[in-house]
Amino acid sequence: MTGIVASNELSPSNRIRIVVDRGLCIGSGDCVETAPEVFELDAEDKARVIDADGAPTDVVIEAAGNCPVTAIFVLGEDGELYP
Ligand code: SF4
Repeated sequence: MTGIVASNELSPSNRIRIVVDRGLCIGSGDCVETAPEVFELDAEDKARVIDADGAPTDVVIEAAGNCPVTAIFVLGEDGELYP
């Protein structure tokens, strides 16, 4: 991910934006297991974000870190939080 994130794209509470690269996602479900209020698997077994404020930011980052293919990108007010 590159570029500056406009503040109005950030979630109201955590002030983050989560992007899942669907091309990379292999549907392992690790992110859902770590943060089920934040991620879910869609009908194509690809992760999608349901609520960026569904868990504390550190849990979101932990979930991103658990992704075996690094398909989850977390952005905050000052830029990339993960990876
Ligand atoms: S952990 Fe990564 S590969 Fe697994 S479902 Fe989530 S985004 Fe997809």
